[in-house]
Amino acid sequence: MTRRLRVAIVGYGSGGQAAALALARDGHEVEVFERVPNPGPVGAGFLLQPTGLQALWRLGLLDAVRTHGAPVARLYGETPCGRAVMDMRYADLDARLTGIGMQRGALFALLHAAIGAQVGIQLHVDHAVEELDCDAGRLRDARWRWHGPFDVLVVADGSASALRAQVTASRIDKPYPWGALWCLLPEGDWSWPTELRQRYLLARQMAGMLPVGCMPGDPVRRLSFFWSLPVNGFGDWRTAGRDAWMQQLQALWPEAHARMGEDFDVSCLARAAYRDAIPKRWWRGRTVLLGDAAHAMSPQLGQGVNMALVDALELAKQLGQSTSTTDAFAAYETARRAHLAAYHRYSRWLTPLFQSHHDGIARLRDAAFLPAGRLPFASGHMLRVLSGTQQGWFGRYRLEPGFVDALHRASPANQTE
Ligand SMILES: Cc1cc2nc3c(=O)[nH]c(=O)nc-3n(C[C@H](O)[C@H](O)[C@H](O)COP(=O)(O)OP(=O)(O)OC[C@H]3O[C@@H](n4cnc5c(N)ncnc54)[C@H](O)[C@@H]3O)c2cc1C
Repeated sequence: MTRRLRVAIVGYGSGGQAAALALARDGHEVEVFERVPNPGPVGAGFLLQPTGLQALWRLGLLDAVRTHGAPVARLYGETPCGRAVMDMRYADLDARLTGIGMQRGALFALLHAAIGAQVGIQLHVDHAVEELDCDAGRLRDARWRWHGPFDVLVVADGSASALRAQVTASRIDKPYPWGALWCLLPEGDWSWPTELRQRYLLARQMAGMLPVGCMPGDPVRRLSFFWSLPVNGFGDWRTAGRDAWMQQLQALWPEAHARMGEDFDVSCLARAAYRDAIPKRWWRGRTVLLGDAAHAMSPQLGQGVNMALVDALELAKQLGQSTSTTDAFAAYETARRAHLAAYHRYSRWLTPLFQSHHDGIARLRDAAFLPAGRLPFASGHMLRVLSGTQQGWFGRYRLEPGFVDALHRASPANQTE
């Protein structure tokens, strides 16, 4: 399609931001509708995988991401007595690959700055969208104003999307029983600045530390801390009080307890909940789903934001090369479902292994996860799942050689050579 499309995007999260940028760069006229008056990041940090980094490379943002993020070479999880449960390194898949931990605020700011510098994007804040006319390409905001018609309506309103049901029925759409508490901490003298570290006590307790680098304008490097908690256990956690929780953390992971310090204020811990959603289809009429709205899953595999970024680039590509928007939507859904097929199931299967009261399953995990991951076929498969490059059950998601070289060149080891 060579004609200039009028595109509306609902949601200014990572998926909506990347879609706005990619579509405006292709010459389309983009309007973004975001419900909050002052958009900003919600959440502490995330791990960008090679797939998401490739999308950011295509948007011209890889260098900025590298500057502010923290390279993560290894994912390591252990029990309180130091028994390894998980140990995966990107280099075992390809010596040139790495993940990058990043503050949500940093990615938000980089995408926001790029959008500000891009012609053809209009951002409407404080515009909660309540109703879609999927076939006519119109949307209604909470003040009963209709906008459009647009040629394309992109629904990127996140995992708890209230609009998904107006586009399609869902095969699954339900909250997970467990969530997390999270906060940012100064990195200080943390011993593992290039690793995502986790500690598990069966599946009842899990804590993690992810190096996430710094924010534009703030040189302090930080860690993203998370603590697993049942969604309905939050009241009990608060009632038990700060000291009881700090004692639990001390017993589970003394180094994390020490990094928090004696004065740690638990009120800075924020709550996060997850959903599992599989819509029956991803588009109807002029309207198409993107990001968590299309495929919400537990963050156990750390893929959500990466998949949202890849969605954005794939949608722009298909709109650029198809003869109609419906052909583009169909090709986009096919391509994205092919990539995502295994991830939904893995995240649903794996989450109870790490977040549940099933002690037997957790003991099996402690005994079998690491040896299983060292079997010849399983090792490559698990590494591809981690890096986002598993395509369906048996395929490989293709990373472009130019991107892999760029990621390798940007690694700190190569810059100091
Ligand atoms: C604790 C936790 C840890 C995570 N860790 C990782 C990780 O390490 N790696 C990873 O890849 N992913 C991770 N994720 C998942 C990741 O955060 C999401 O997959 C990603 O943010 C989805 O982006 P999105 O743009 O689809 O949705 P969102 O980021 O949720 O953005 C949706 C936007 O839509 C707006 N909106 C909602 N409703 C409306 C409406 N009606 N009208 C207008 N605007 C609306 C919202 O205000 C928001 O700005 C994690 C998630 C959690 C909860």
